Amino acid sequence: MATNTLDDRDADDYSETESALETALRQLSAAATQVDVDDGVIERLKHPTRVVEVGVPLKRDDGSVEVYTGYRAQHDDVRGPYKGGLRFHPDVTAEECVGLSMWMTWKCAVMDLPFGGAKGGVVVNPKDLSTEEKERLTRRFAEEIRDTIGPKQDIPAPDMGTDAQTMAWFMDAYSMQEGETTPGVVTGKPPVIGGSKGREEAPGRSVAIIAREALEYYDTDIGEATVAVQGFGSVGANAARLLDDWGADVVAVSDVNGAAYDTSGLDTHAVPSHEEEPEAVMSYDAPNTLTNEEVLELDVDVLIPAAIGNVLTADNADDVQANIVVEGANGPTTSAADTILEERGIPVIPDILANAGGVTVSYFEWLQDINRRQWPLERVHEELESMMLSAWDDVRAEVEARDVSWRDAAYVVALERVGEAKSSRGLWP
Ligand code: NAD
Repeated sequence: MATNTLDDRDADDYSETESALETALRQLSAAATQVDVDDGVIERLKHPTRVVEVGVPLKRDDGSVEVYTGYRAQHDDVRGPYKGGLRFHPDVTAEECVGLSMWMTWKCAVMDLPFGGAKGGVVVNPKDLSTEEKERLTRRFAEEIRDTIGPKQDIPAPDMGTDAQTMAWFMDAYSMQEGETTPGVVTGKPPVIGGSKGREEAPGRSVAIIAREALEYYDTDIGEATVAVQGFGSVGANAARLLDDWGADVVAVSDVNGAAYDTSGLDTHAVPSHEEEPEAVMSYDAPNTLTNEEVLELDVDVLIPAAIGNVLTADNADDVQANIVVEGANGPTTSAADTILEERGIPVIPDILANAGGVTVSYFEWLQDINRRQWPLERVHEELESMMLSAWDDVRAEVEARDVSWRDAAYVVALERVGEAKSSRGLWP
């Protein structure tokens, strides 16, 4: 299964601490060597359209005032409005938002969604705020970036430290100022105010669909397949339970405390997910337990890292025994690990394809908001299935045609789409 790499560096040449922006730029340069896109277009894609920085004053519950910094980075909108999450996290930086906005451009393009890429956030630890403070902060941030966003310009969504409630406050603040109810300004809202059914489980569902397709591609019957999942949260638990329902043996699932392990397959519906009971995987009565490090080294057909970034590194990539890695988390594989796994012939199906069900159902939500008509869950599932299979086929075709890795193929598909759109529209003036 070994393939050509798009650039010639060895694993040792890659820093394990590469920033999101460095990763995004490296992937762009690598994909550019494969795609017939004008140099001027590539140059434009190395830069965001704009990065907005705002001060967000907040009256704390004790009457004192603090001012937080917020950002919205918009990378490219050649294919449609900017789209991407808003995070509340102490480590948010302008540079990180730019790098993550580029990832969103490629993720939307690989799914052929009519969106470009954006990312934003506020430099704050939401755990330090009361619910009322979070609401005031969200409303003021929405107002500070109101000129930059909108259902036709830029559509935020939940991300680290934000959730459906945050989106509801954001949508309300925007709507009050605009003088009309505007549900399409954000996605990931509660269904009662225009959110889509099936949005919450969508990233996990897409991971399961892609894992199922990957198993078939590599000639493994899903009914005979074994799966290990690191992280039993929104992404990991939904993916694990679907694969279990489809006949696979999910032998290990973990949370931050470790893994439940059963070689004959866990009853994944009986293991508490992060949402049902946080960090309670170990309460499941499994015959064995494992550490999180051991989960990554299990001899299984599919390994799904679905917890945090940078867990597959130069230190453990040689010990991975899975036949296929399907990325559930964003960025779980460092560049060095990517190179090692590629040399070892272990295919890594990348995050921008595998977990793109979230942004895809966000697109469905936006369509529903514009049309003021909610889709039944069955339609969400059917259309997600169809878009995932289509994206899978597009990426698979590039893997076969160019003999490149799945990650490089996904970036090629994305860059071709964005590059052609840019060339076709031209540069104004
Ligand atoms: P979540 O908070 O619902 O669950 C995270 C799970 O990972 C929990 O079970 C937690 O215990 C576990 N975990 C945390 N730190 C860990 C560690 N160090 N080792 C092992 N397990 C650990 O999170 P989520 O929404 O499922 O997101 C997981 C990943 O998927 C993140 O990288 C996120 O960016 C990415 N992602 C999420 C979505 C989404 O819409 N939820 C979409 C795309 C990508």
